[in-house]
Formats: sequence, structure tokens, C-alpha cells
Amino acid sequence: MSDACLFCKIFAGQIPTTKIYEDEKVLGFKDINPLAAKHFLFIHKEHTPTFSQMMEIDPQQALDVLKAIKKYVADSKMEEEGFRIVVNQGHFGGQTVAHTHFHLLGGSPLGPFGEQGK
Ligand code: AMP
Ligand code: ZN
Repeated sequence: MSDACLFCKIFAGQIPTTKIYEDEKVLGFKDINPLAAKHFLFIHKEHTPTFSQMMEIDPQQALDVLKAIKKYVADSKMEEEGFRIVVNQGHFGGQTVAHTHFHLLGGSPLGPFGEQGK
């Protein structure tokens, strides 16, 4: 846990959120500013700032998160309907919270991917 980290504060219960999934390692919650009909964030409870660091320090963390997403979509309509998983890293990637998070988007057909669809 990092004291200064927004997402660590969320799983510590210090900042309110709408949880949609939790197991001993992973938390899933609603994005506060949804960009799709369904927009959730999945995080590992270990604080790791970026996807690259996660893969260098403990790639099992990424697998834990992806397995949690797989469970969540299988238990909801999302697996059948389709969905998108996105990880932003660094300045060009648009990462604004330095605790690695996987966006899960869906709930209706999504637009083209990337800046202005390019
Ligand atoms: P990123 O731009 O990939 O770093 O994504 C950060 C995401 O966190 C954005 O989609 C924000 O809307 C979302 N976010 C920021 N603060 C909160 C919060 N308190 N609860 C839920 N989502 C949040
Ligand atoms: Zn954190």
C-alpha cells in the first residue's frame, strides 16, 4: 500500500467507491467518469505504479487481474456481448493514476479505438 495513492486508498476503504468485484488480490470498481455504458477499473492490491513495472517485478499480478476480469465477464453479460480491456501507461498513454489499472469497457457497441479513431 502506498499512502499517497488514490487507488490504494480505495481498496483500504478510505475513499468511497462502487465495488463490482473483489477477491483477496484484486478489486474491481466503477470508473468515476465512465467513457462507456459499462466502465470498470480492475487493480491488484499490491501497489505497482505502471504496467511495465508490474511485468518486471511480478507478472503474476497481471495474471491475477486478467483472471479476475475473466471471472467478472463470465458472470455477467459482458462475455457474450463483447468488451474491451485497456491499460494506459505514462504520458502518451494518458495514465493519470500511478497504480496500474486495467479498464474494462462495454455495455454497448464501442467506437473506433485510439485518438480520433486513427
Ligand atoms: P488512467 O487515465 O488510465 O490513469 O485512468 C484513471 C481512471 O481513474 C480515469 O478513468 C478516472 O475517471 C478514474 N478515477 C479517478 N478517480 C477515481 C475514483 N475516485 N473512483 C473511480 N475512478 C476514478
Ligand atoms: Zn496504489
